[in-house]
Amino acid sequence: MNYLPTTAIDALFSAQKAFFATRATADVGFRKNALKQLRAAVVKNQEALYLALAEDLGKTREVVDLAEIGEVLHEIDFALANLDEWVVPEPVPTPEIIAPSECYIVQEPYGVAYIIGPFNYPVNLTLTPLIGAIVGGNTCIIKPSETTPETSCVIEKIIAEAFAPEYVTVVQGGRDENTHLLSLPFDFIFFTGSPNVGKVVMKAAAEHLTPVVLELGGKCPLMVLPDADLDHTVDQLMFGKFINSGQTCIAPDYLYVHSSVKDALLQRLVDRVKVELPEVNSTGKIVTAHQVARLDSLVKETRGKVLVGAQADLDKRAFSATVVDKVQWNDPLMAEELFGPILPVLEYDDVPTAVNLINQHHPKPLAVYVFGKDIELAKGIIDQIQSGDAQVNGVIVHAFSPHLPFGGIGASGMGEYHGRFSYLTFTHKKSVRVAP
Ligand code: NAD
Repeated sequence: MNYLPTTAIDALFSAQKAFFATRATADVGFRKNALKQLRAAVVKNQEALYLALAEDLGKTREVVDLAEIGEVLHEIDFALANLDEWVVPEPVPTPEIIAPSECYIVQEPYGVAYIIGPFNYPVNLTLTPLIGAIVGGNTCIIKPSETTPETSCVIEKIIAEAFAPEYVTVVQGGRDENTHLLSLPFDFIFFTGSPNVGKVVMKAAAEHLTPVVLELGGKCPLMVLPDADLDHTVDQLMFGKFINSGQTCIAPDYLYVHSSVKDALLQRLVDRVKVELPEVNSTGKIVTAHQVARLDSLVKETRGKVLVGAQADLDKRAFSATVVDKVQWNDPLMAEELFGPILPVLEYDDVPTAVNLINQHHPKPLAVYVFGKDIELAKGIIDQIQSGDAQVNGVIVHAFSPHLPFGGIGASGMGEYHGRFSYLTFTHKKSVRVAP
C-alpha cells in the first residue's frame, strides 16, 4: 500500500480546519445526512468487507454481521433516531447570586478529530467512533491499522464514497504516519489500541493540549463461583474467549475458578474445544505471523499444564484454541494481555482473597465477568473490582448496547462512547449565561 507523503497529510489537515471553520457541520441536518451517507456506503461495500475481513482475520460472516457491520449500523440508526433530542441545549436553574439570567449548556463540536484504529475489529473500531465525531459536528481524519491492509482499503473506499476529504478522510499508514499525524494540532484524538501506544498518543496530545480518549486493553478476569451454571459458563467461554481468535479487548483473558467446580468445568470446556474447535485455524486468523510466534513462545514457557491446543501454524497465521490448567500469578501467561486463543486457568478457595488477588495483580481491567447463581454475591464482587465494564453471567455483549457507555479506567483507558455517550465525548460542554 502506498502511503501519503507528510505534505499531503498536512494539506488534508488544513483543508479540514478550513471546512470546519465554514460551520457547515454545525447544522444538524448536515450531520444526519452524513450518517445516512455512511450507512449507505457501508451497506454497499458489505461483500467487500466480508472478503477483506476473511482475508485479514479469518472472520466468518456471522462474526462480521455481529461485531463489525451490525454494530456500526445499529449505532448509526440509534444516532439518527435520537440526534434531534441530543442537540437541544440543556436549560439549568439560575442561582440567586447570578440572577437575573438565563443559563444553559450547549454541546459544542471540538473541530478536527483524529481517530486511530486497532487491527482486531477494524471496521467497528474506526466507524463507531466516527459516528461520534459526526454527531458531535466535527470533521475527522481516520487512520486504520496497517496490519489489516485489505480491510483498511475497504474502509478508505467507504469513506471516499460517503464524504468529501475536507470533511472525513482516511490516511493509511503505520507508526511513521501516526507519529506525523500526532504532531498536528488536532482538536480531539480518539485512540483504540494497546496501553503502550496509548502513552505515546497521550504524550503527543499533551504538546497541543488536545483532549484524548484512550480505549486500551488489559487482562479481563472471568471468575466462576461455586454455584455457577457450568454449561452456561462454558457456552460463554467458548464464545467470549475464542471469537476472533481471542483478539478481543473485552475477551475474558483468564479463568479464575473456585476449586470445588474447577475439574467439572474444565472437563466440559476441553471436551467442547476438542469437538467444536479441532483445527489450528478453527477460531480464525492471528493478525501477523509475529503474533503467532509470540503466543507459541508463551505457551512453551508456561509452567502450567496444557489440556488442549497449543498448536501454532505460521503459514496459516493460526493458533489453536488452548486451555492451560494450574497456572500461577507469576506465570508468563499472566504477565500481559494475551490477545490470543489461550485460556490460562487459576483456582481459588476463598472469594475475598480471590478478589484481592485480582485487584493486586491486574487492577482496573477493561471488563470483569462473574458467573454464579447468587446474583447479589456476584454483584457485590463486581463492586469490589474497579473496571471499565462488568457483567454477571455473560461476556462481551454489554458492548452492543447503545445505552451503556463503553470505556476503560486506569490502564484500560479513559473516556467512553456508544450511543449518546459518543455524542457527549465528541463535544465540549459549553456553559452559557445570558443576562438581560
Ligand atoms: P496498537 O497499539 O499496536 O496499534 C493501534 C494503532 O496505533 C495502530 O493504528 C498503529 O498503526 C498505531 N501504532 C502502533 N505502534 C505505534 C507507535 N509506536 N507510535 C505511533 N503509533 C503506533 O494496537 P493493536 O495491536 O492494533 O490492537 C490491540 C490492542 O488494542 C490490545 O491491547 C487491545 O486490548 C486494544 N483494544 C482496545 C479496545 C477498546 O475498546 N478498549 C478495542 C480493541 C482493541
